[in-house]
Amino acid sequence: MTNTARRTAAILLLLGAALFWAAVRDSNEAAPAAQDSLRSALASARARSVAGDPRLAGSYRFEQGGWIYVHLEGQPGAIGFQHGYLLASEIEDAFSMMQTRMTHSTRRDWEFFRKAAREMLWPKIDPEYQQELQGIVLGLHARSESKLDIDDIVAFNAFEELPDYYVPWLDRQQKNPAAPALKSPGNCSAFIATGKSTKDHGIVIAHNNWTSYMAGERWRIIFDIAPARGYRILMDGFPGVIASDDDFGITSSGMVVTETTITQFEGWDPNGKAEFVRARKALQYSNSIDDYIRIMLDGNNGGYANDWLIGDNKTGEIAQLELGLKATRVWRTKDGVLSGSNWARDPKIIKLDAPQFDPADLSSSPNARRVRWEELLRQNWGKIDVPLAQAMLADHTDSFEKKEQASERTLCGHVDASRRGVRIWDWAPAYPGGAVQAKAADSAMVSRMEFSARMGHPCGEDFLAAPFLAAHPEYSWMAPYLRDMKAGPWTSFRSGQPAQK
Ligand SMILES: [Zn+2]
Repeated sequence: MTNTARRTAAILLLLGAALFWAAVRDSNEAAPAAQDSLRSALASARARSVAGDPRLAGSYRFEQGGWIYVHLEGQPGAIGFQHGYLLASEIEDAFSMMQTRMTHSTRRDWEFFRKAAREMLWPKIDPEYQQELQGIVLGLHARSESKLDIDDIVAFNAFEELPDYYVPWLDRQQKNPAAPALKSPGNCSAFIATGKSTKDHGIVIAHNNWTSYMAGERWRIIFDIAPARGYRILMDGFPGVIASDDDFGITSSGMVVTETTITQFEGWDPNGKAEFVRARKALQYSNSIDDYIRIMLDGNNGGYANDWLIGDNKTGEIAQLELGLKATRVWRTKDGVLSGSNWARDPKIIKLDAPQFDPADLSSSPNARRVRWEELLRQNWGKIDVPLAQAMLADHTDSFEKKEQASERTLCGHVDASRRGVRIWDWAPAYPGGAVQAKAADSAMVSRMEFSARMGHPCGEDFLAAPFLAAHPEYSWMAPYLRDMKAGPWTSFRSGQPAQK
């Protein structure tokens, strides 16, 4: 036994005796309070005993600008352990919100998702990421009294692909007459530019994440990952999830990546590899646009089908990978702009993979934003830089009604302000969702592994839960999880940034 372990054992023994003493005392009023304080003493004893764990070596966390920055490093199991340990309370909180959201929309119980994770997803997850996911569970348990196990964490990591891709596919297979109308999500507004379109002729990339506010308010992690194998990663992300999942990342190989989803996508391959695993692997192991495309295509399961915007800072080339299931397409350029706002671009992909999508309806959120991206990127041709990108992400112009008013049609989305909602995503009128945070970078920042990020609406407006819920009792099921989403300042983060005091 080491000294630390001996000390910890002694503390636990003393606390155990005290707990026993408290339990046998027959004072009904004093006992619960005594037990609470003993429980918290036990928790701090546990935290002290784990603090010297070699799996935590080098890891740290700090908060800045409304974000939580975590630095993780080492072998896959250690990266997971650090992730679970440093973000234990955020993971527990995000998990219970997501579990409610997934079971509410699909009308399937949680055991259904655990089974899908265990039987369908787990066997095809690379051993490296199996170890990282198991590490998250161990880290959680080292830090807290969490009851989550590996099936919970894997199902949770697949929150973008199981409820809105796998379940509708399964409902069709089973001809389920009670199937809810599930739609693939429409997440995000983004562009990537290069060559003569930008001010310094390097790459500029920008992205705002669209999702429900209750998920978005929790999408506030900056992950700085130094893995034992592969490239170093700086990405935004969600607590407990190993991929960025709104997919904004920069790596030490000079790759920079983001995406927007394909609206009304249909299809799932139960024999494929989970999207969250492919997305993380592509970020960690790509040294070129070709690498990225190859890894995303390997085991494509159709889940969380995206238009990927990919840049290689070494060559200045950018690409768009439209990743359907029955069809895929790639566009590449060293001189131009590629944008995304949840519409498929290739007619063949629309026909085969998103047959319900109408590219001609300019009143819909994806198409209205497409028109606005085209206007803005044309007007700013040759001038695009990070400050302009930040302003574009905060844009409130409705291209369909030709007026300034934030809604589901504007690049900075505020669907709660719209009486229309977004039918094609199954977002009812005034749905509390839209742009929840934003990121941007240029080539100089990418080479330093740095990006600028703003938590909350990119325009700086706050969302307040209490008045919203009072005005919209139809969303009362969200009440336990829906919180204020206050906008933070644009804040720069870089890889290896030391902890803020
Ligand atoms: Zn806004």
